[in-house]
Formats: sequence, C-alpha cells, structure tokens
Amino acid sequence: MKLLVDSMLGTLGKWLRLLGYDAAIAVNHASDAELARQARAEGRVLLTRDRGLAGRRGLQTLLVEEGDLDAQLLQVMQALCLPAPQPGSRCVHCNALLQPASHEEVAHDVPPYVLQTQPAFRRCPRCRRVYWRGTHMEQIEQKAKLWRRAQGRAASQ
Ligand SMILES: [Zn+2]
Repeated sequence: MKLLVDSMLGTLGKWLRLLGYDAAIAVNHASDAELARQARAEGRVLLTRDRGLAGRRGLQTLLVEEGDLDAQLLQVMQALCLPAPQPGSRCVHCNALLQPASHEEVAHDVPPYVLQTQPAFRRCPRCRRVYWRGTHMEQIEQKAKLWRRAQGRAASQ
C-alpha cells in the first residue's frame, strides 16, 4: 500500500516512514489538483485533513480527523488495514528502502564509538545517510505497538 501524505500531516508522514510504510509527503503549497495528479500517477492513497480533497472523485483518500499523532496512526493503520510495521526499513528523509551496509562501508560515515558498538548498519541508496539501532528505536517500537491495537479494534467491529 502506497501513501501520499498532505503536507499539513508531515509529522504523520515521517512516522509512517519510521514504521516502514511507503509514504510520500506532498511538497508545501501543492494545489489540490497537483496532489490528486500525484496520487493517481503513483497509485497512492491520499491522506488529508481537507474534507473537500478527501471527497474528490476518482481518488483513493482517507480523511484524517484525529488530532494527536498516536490517534492518527491508529486511524490510518486501521482504516487502510496496513500490514505489520517494519521499523527501521525506510529512510525518514526520502522514503527510500534502506539497504544493509557492512562496517567497512560505513567506517567513515559514523562516529568510532557507534562503529564499535553497533552490530548492524543500513544505508539509504538515495541520500546515503547511515542508520543504526539508535536510542529513539524504543520510541518507534512503542508506536509500532499501535498496529496491534489497530488490529484488535478492527477485529472487534
Ligand atoms: Zn534517504
């Protein structure tokens, strides 16, 4: 499932990426017509807070009504029946899938302490950023747990 996130929902978009979902984030000030065109061209479900846009014909959309981030994530996971999250599989900056990288390959790109202590690295093929299991992983795992709750909710309805 591919998503296109309205720029008003940028934080939601970044979190969807952190959880491993394919979430393009619309450029700032994109017009409704441009958003609709991108969603159609790339086969993406458009997530928006804009009621008019969400009601547009010929588009797959989801009107995100919840205000708080956890509630938004829950709503999206549940409404779209998203597959289980894969935290740390996607670049949060450019949405590309990360590729495994060896210690030799990242030796010049990470601090020596990190190189010595981390067992595994991944690199973004687009922006070349290096990722490892950092301290905010705990926060991401916390959010990933929302998926189970979304599953529970879907099952009880
Ligand atoms: Zn990247």
